[in-house]
Amino acid sequence: MKEIPYKIYLEENEMPKQWYNVRADMKNKPSPLLNPATLKPMGFEDLRPVFCDELIKQELDDTTPFFDIPEEILDFYKMYRPSPLVRAYFLEKALDTPAKIYYKFEGNNTSGSHKLNSAIAQAYYAKKQGLKGVTTETGAGQWGTALSMACSYFGLDCEVYMVKVSYEQKPFRREVMRTYGASVTPSPSESTAVGRKILKEFPGTTGSLGCAISEAVEAATSKVGYRYVLGSVLSQVLLHQTIIGLETKAALDKYQIKPDIIIGCAGGGSNLGGLISPFMGEKIRGEADYRIIAVEPASCPSLTRGKYVYDFCDTGMVCPLAKMYTLGNGFIPSANHAGGLRYHGMSSILSQLYADKLMEAVSVEQTQVFDAAVQFARVEGTLPAPESSHAIRVAIDEALKCKETGEEKTIVFGLTGTGYFDMLAYEKYNNGEMRDYVPTEEDLAKGFATIPTLQ
Ligand SMILES: *Cc1c(COP(=O)(O)O)cnc(C)c1O
Repeated sequence: MKEIPYKIYLEENEMPKQWYNVRADMKNKPSPLLNPATLKPMGFEDLRPVFCDELIKQELDDTTPFFDIPEEILDFYKMYRPSPLVRAYFLEKALDTPAKIYYKFEGNNTSGSHKLNSAIAQAYYAKKQGLKGVTTETGAGQWGTALSMACSYFGLDCEVYMVKVSYEQKPFRREVMRTYGASVTPSPSESTAVGRKILKEFPGTTGSLGCAISEAVEAATSKVGYRYVLGSVLSQVLLHQTIIGLETKAALDKYQIKPDIIIGCAGGGSNLGGLISPFMGEKIRGEADYRIIAVEPASCPSLTRGKYVYDFCDTGMVCPLAKMYTLGNGFIPSANHAGGLRYHGMSSILSQLYADKLMEAVSVEQTQVFDAAVQFARVEGTLPAPESSHAIRVAIDEALKCKETGEEKTIVFGLTGTGYFDMLAYEKYNNGEMRDYVPTEEDLAKGFATIPTLQ
């Protein structure tokens, strides 16, 4: 018998009842969103046409450390939470490492990822405000799937603009969304002015998240009773995702486990931010120290090769400007297989933490990510999402370093989702046809050229 169970489950009544706002503890606060017209910080009234009122309050709040999770959201969470923290005994054995590896698994719901944690919160606040529906974009399809589930639960209309390359590559995700009652449009589309403009400028483009965001915002603001919701990047999303980190911390505390290294994949930063927030809070307050590592694809390296400047959150330049690590709003990454990690920017909270050197970042190439994914699937059983597999890659690398040095480090990583809808990517890998795309300096320069110059 092992002392620590393979899966550490919390009881239902041990599930956290509040989200934690790490900004309250940050010494250097993330820079405010700027109004694209006036370049002044966005206030409550500026954001009201686009977002739900309660979510704007969360977005703008840099000081309140805890937010109560409404009862209705807790009820929904109970369908699939608390999620397990798994001790990767089988992976440790396969690697022959003295490191102890844990992963927090967020794929145990039909949408298959952590995104449901914020989708249900955003749908709840929209419903409470008496809205008819919400619009959004989706890249790989996980966010759209999560949102369509959440909207059907609360009886809200759900319009999804899906990045064209995913729309074509992932017809089953599209059908899941439609099954839950959402309407799905490939982006760029002819149904918005910004979509038509982008199509004219870049005929044949397979789309990007930034471009789909522009379309969804336009769709929301041009109809009465609709608001726009976003699955990542924003501080409100990161706040909702802290349920991941709070549960992880509670489960570790239950067995007096202290992690040395915490690893997560970073697209817009929501799962990573949510996982690390409570640990980062301790680190900032000087109560504990952790190595925290963000992992991004080498094909879309916003933290490791981007610039820390104000940039538009979307390609159409209709959204606010955020100060973040960015590759430029016009950066269109090569068609890699981790659709959830193709965003040009990064959460302004994580950007500030990274700028303050409270967090590290590494980029990894796609074939090595799939090497790790397959190795993990074969020993741990779970088929990981390509996005999540970025974290697996670095967890394995860190565990192998421990093998060399003999250190018994404790590694925790976020396993954000399952890969059932990513079998085309696995097929490419299994056939030996997967290629790595790393942007050249010239490719990056093209993206940087689209960053606005501010006085
Ligand atoms: C969307 C997604 C991500 C990346 O988004 P973040 O906001 O950076 O967390 C990672 N993993 C999965 C499975 C996703 O669906």
